[in-house]
Amino acid sequence: MTLSLDEVFTLARQALAGQGLAENQASAIARTITAAERDGCQSHGLFRVPFYVAALQNPGIDPAAEPVVSVDSSAVVHVDAGCGFCPLALERGLEHLVERAQALGIAAMAIHRSYNIAALWPEVEHLANAGLIAFAFTASNAYVAPAGGSKPLYGTNPMAFAWPRAQQPPLVFDQASSVSARGEIQLHQQAGQPLPGGWAIDVHGEATTDPASALAGAQLAFGGYKGASLALMIELLAGALIGDLFSFESSAQDVHNTGAPFGGEFLIAISPGRCAPGASNDAHLERAEALFTKILSQDGTRLPSDRRYQARVNHLANGIEIPAPLYEELQGLASE
Ligand code: NDP
Repeated sequence: MTLSLDEVFTLARQALAGQGLAENQASAIARTITAAERDGCQSHGLFRVPFYVAALQNPGIDPAAEPVVSVDSSAVVHVDAGCGFCPLALERGLEHLVERAQALGIAAMAIHRSYNIAALWPEVEHLANAGLIAFAFTASNAYVAPAGGSKPLYGTNPMAFAWPRAQQPPLVFDQASSVSARGEIQLHQQAGQPLPGGWAIDVHGEATTDPASALAGAQLAFGGYKGASLALMIELLAGALIGDLFSFESSAQDVHNTGAPFGGEFLIAISPGRCAPGASNDAHLERAEALFTKILSQDGTRLPSDRRYQARVNHLANGIEIPAPLYEELQGLASE
């Protein structure tokens, strides 16, 4: 069935509120879910609502958490999510990060004690729309084997990057450090489809294309040891550096196996005019456009985020398609 994006937002918000999330938390999550559906990223769209609901089983979670922002004259903004979900913590903190980065040239934001099952591009796109170059990192639960290993240790640990562009939406990429996001394996399982080769190993360390065996075993980092090193870096930045949990620690506290990662997110924002001596913001952006033009002059290329922006245009005009069983499940959650 077809839903407008307003209907996506209302369905998500009502389903989450119907399961006990306070209005502030439910609305922020629903905005993130609507952005995912708008941009054609189903694995973080309405499909995610039952995962947020399952996360409410965690004994430490606060479904009405109001994040607390700490900001001073230094370069690091802190947001204590108060054991609520990450989207509201981001909404509360991002404007402070923009202000600090514009004032100092570079600033960071550490989100603490949050449940984070969202994609990262909305926050870096927001920062780039404010004229900043942005990075975001978060650890998750232990799903990915270290290079050469066979047991889950790292999270699927995404990182996102955004670069502002004049006259156009920012260039953004947002990618897991595993070959695939875990949600993609769950979507294959729901659809009864085998996985592409190279995504995962089973509990015995053997390659598998069976989604259930992959979920029980370990996912693989993209690019072998190189992706594993990125996953390691993200554990250090979003875990050790800001005093939050590693993925294996998040898994250990997930006593009901809800799959909701608990811990931190780390963001860095850079004001472009401060980096090359004497260069204006416009000069940086113009140089980047020359590179993008070179890339696109080769057949078969596109820029990261092009697919998302095309999906955005289409879905804003035509709404999104949602499977009837998912719609009914979410309506059921809303009315319980
Ligand atoms: P994908 O592999 O689908 O895409 C990764 C990036 O590559 C996107 O920015 C995409 O742009 C870009 N891209 C894809 N194909 C091309 C191409 N041919 N040329 C240039 N760029 C290309 O994403 P993942 O499966 O790795 O991750 C999915 C999502 O899962 C992410 O949003 C991530 O934040 C989220 N995630 C969240 C976790 C959490 O714990 N919170 C854990 C792990 C993942 P485009 O969008 O335009 O296709």
